[in-house]
Formats: sequence, structure tokens, C-alpha cells
Amino acid sequence: MLPARIRIGEGRASPHALHVMAQNYLIGANMSLLMVAGLNQGAGRIIEQFGSDKQKELYLENIYTGQWSGTMALTESECGSNLGDLSTSAVKNEDGTFSLTGNKIFISGGDQDMTENIIHLVLARIAGAPEGSRGISLFVVPKFHVNADGSLGKGNDIVCTGIEEKMGLHGSPTCSMALGSKGKCTGTLLGEENKGLSMMFLMMNEARLMVGAQALSCASSAYLYALDYARQRIQGPPPAGKDRASVAIINHPDVRRMLLTMKSYTEGMRSLLCYIASLEDKKRVSVDSREKERYQNLIEILTPVGKGYVTDRAVDVCNLAVQVFGGYGYTSEYPVEQLLRDVRITTIYEGTNGIQAMDLLGRKLQMKNMGLFLDLINEIKNTLAEAQMINSLSALCSRVETAVNMLCQVAEKNG
Ligand SMILES: Cc1cc2nc3c(=O)[nH]c(=O)nc-3n(C[C@H](O)[C@H](O)[C@H](O)COP(=O)(O)OP(=O)(O)OC[C@H]3O[C@@H](n4cnc5c(N)ncnc54)[C@H](O)[C@@H]3O)c2cc1C
Repeated sequence: MLPARIRIGEGRASPHALHVMAQNYLIGANMSLLMVAGLNQGAGRIIEQFGSDKQKELYLENIYTGQWSGTMALTESECGSNLGDLSTSAVKNEDGTFSLTGNKIFISGGDQDMTENIIHLVLARIAGAPEGSRGISLFVVPKFHVNADGSLGKGNDIVCTGIEEKMGLHGSPTCSMALGSKGKCTGTLLGEENKGLSMMFLMMNEARLMVGAQALSCASSAYLYALDYARQRIQGPPPAGKDRASVAIINHPDVRRMLLTMKSYTEGMRSLLCYIASLEDKKRVSVDSREKERYQNLIEILTPVGKGYVTDRAVDVCNLAVQVFGGYGYTSEYPVEQLLRDVRITTIYEGTNGIQAMDLLGRKLQMKNMGLFLDLINEIKNTLAEAQMINSLSALCSRVETAVNMLCQVAEKNG
């Protein structure tokens, strides 16, 4: 039984789209802090969906309330993109728990003292399991063991052995972790043996959209800083006209070009992420099974786009912000150089953007006989048909039509 205070799956019952937009403010204020808090949701969801009643009872409430934090402990020095090669091992004990041994690297929030406990979700291979991704299981490994009555017990043998010296995101502890260096790291199996990767994908899909939201927040902040600066910085006369007095740089065509590029990318990214989040809301409330499936198809095919495209463009936007600030943009006196350093990681973690591209072209496109792609194209075509009724949009519509046709040709070649 779950504790009565937790209404699992409901939370505040606010729409996901609202959540994503609100996240924008929080991440924009402090992306590093949200690295720790943001993983709780995914960790909670995965325990909620696949955990035993006992695991739910012990961990869920404190994870969801933020009393404890969660991590995803996947990466090892020899395996990042290809998790099938991981070597952390797990051996079953007589009491049903598992003893884990191995080393993880790059674990966000792997250790910190902001929360009372840290619940690590660790990928490891059970002794004798098949090689490759088919032999990976998922374990709940708490920093402090949790007693049957919910109180904290003794420390587990999972320790931070170092903090990575990163290019940015300095407020987020990215840790190397040793599991079982004293032979005493124990955890419990989550879900079925050897199904760890597929369960982890549930968390990763959410995390991928959160990374998109991180990138959007950096881009949006960078744009607003640049806009504000361009309105205040006086430099040189306008290109034409008799008055040769210096003006605010926002009046210079090249600066306007940069600002408008940043604005259009940022608004496009926001719309895309909001759209994906609204699909999640529509899926939840829909009672028609085909409709539900259609929404899920759209979410799945758009997730690598919401991560890959958004993060690539966000780096471009933050880069342009440095340019708008000129030399000051390159100094730490102004905030945009930090945004450029911070946003850079978003194209790398949660599956590099190269891996997202392969997921889109190699996997999602072919799924269900290209059914996901066809649902997406139909959605775009329906929107296009509505837009074509508005005269002032006709030029834009024909550009979108050309792009859609090109997309279909590419898909046909790959499908
Ligand atoms: C700040 C930070 C926080 C992180 N947080 C976490 C965390 O909380 N938990 C966690 O488990 N991990 C975390 N990571 C690790 C991160 O997810 C990995 O770094 C990432 O998945 C890439 O793995 P890798 O570094 O081993 O690169 P590699 O896998 O070695 O990739 C190197 C390059 O090769 C390309 N490549 C690899 N395989 C292929 C292929 N088959 N085809 C084409 N190209 C390929 C990649 O796209 C990339 O460009 C974090 C990393 C950082 C830097």
C-alpha cells in the first residue's frame, strides 16, 4: 500500500504543458540547482511504475516531496553512448538484495548535502546475465539504507570519489562514484531482471525533454540579456540619415539580425516543447485508444527532435548573445558567457545529439511501419490546411509545404 499522502500520478494535477513552462523560470534562474531537483521526478516515476510495493512505500514520498533526491547512474568510463558494454556487476544475496561492485562517472547530483538521502538508480549486470544491452538490470541503491519504518539507517558503500572539472554548470556536482569498494554496496532490483535499459528509457525520455527545456531556458535568458543590453549600449551612428550621433546598438541592422534570429529560434523552441508537453496532456485525458496511441506516436517521434534540435539551436542562440555583447560578452562580468558554457552540455548528455539523430532516423522512423512518421505528417498537413485559409500566411505556408515534401522524401529513403 502507498502512503495516503501520495496521490501517485496526480501530483498537483496541473497540465504538463504548464509544468514545462514553469520549469523554464526555475531553470532560467539556476540550471545547476535544477540538475539535482529535476531528476527526482524521473526517478520517482520509474519507481512508481516498476517498483514493488515495498520500494514505493520506502522511497516515493520522500523523492516526490524533494526530501530526498534521485540520480541516474548509467555512465562508466568505458561506456557512455553504448550502455550495453557496462561492467558494474550485481550478485544476489540470500536475503534477496544484491551486492553491487563497479565505478560510475559523470553522475549528476551523485553526492551533495542538500537532501537527507540520495536514491541512486543504478544500471548493472547480474552475474551470469547475457552480454550486451539484453543483460542489464536496474537497481535502487540508497546513499543511506532506509529502515522498515522509513527512518534512515547506516551509510551504503556508494561513495563519491571525485567531482568532474567541467567547462560550465559548475554549481552541479557531477561525480565519479565507487560502488562496493569495501564489498558492502547493497541495493534492490527494480522491476524484472535484464529489463533495466528499457525501464531506464522511460526516465530518459522525460529527461531528454527536460534537457530540451534546459537549453530553451539558457537560450531564452541569453536572448533577453542581449535584447536589454542592445537597448542600452550606445555605439556608432546609424548606417543612414543625417544625424551622425551614436545610437543604441539595437538600431544597427546586423545587431537586429542577431536579435531577431535569437528571438525566432527561441520562440520556435518554446512552441515545440510546449506542443510535445500538450500531447502528453491530451494523451492523459483522451478516452479513445486510437487517439491515445496517436498522441504517444507523436511524442515518441518528436522527443529526439525536442532534445536534439532544441539543444543545437540553443547553443547558436547563446553564441549570438555573446556576439551582441561584443568584448563584454566574452568576460565573466556579464552573464552570457556562462550561459554559453552551461548550455553546451545539453547537446551531449542524455544521449548525444548524434545518438538522437540515429534514434530518429534509425528507430522512430521505422517503428509501426512508419506509423509514427505518418501521424506526424498528417498533423503537420492538417495544420497547414488551416493556415492556408489565412491569406497573410500563404508565403509561409508554401515554404512549409516545400519543407514537408523534402522531409517525406528523406523519410522514404530511410524508411
Ligand atoms: C555534466 C555532465 C552530466 C552528466 N550526467 C550524467 C548522469 O547524471 N548520469 C549518467 O549516467 N551520465 C551522465 N553524464 C554522461 C553523459 O550522458 C555521457 O557523457 C554521454 O552519454 C556521452 O557518452 P560519452 O561521454 O562516453 O561519449 P561517447 O559515447 O564516447 O561519444 C563520443 C562521440 O562519439 C559519438 N558516438 C558514440 N557512439 C556512436 C555511434 N554508435 N554512432 C555515431 N556516433 C557515435 C557521440 O555522438 C559523441 O559525439 C553526464 C555527462 C556530463 C558531462
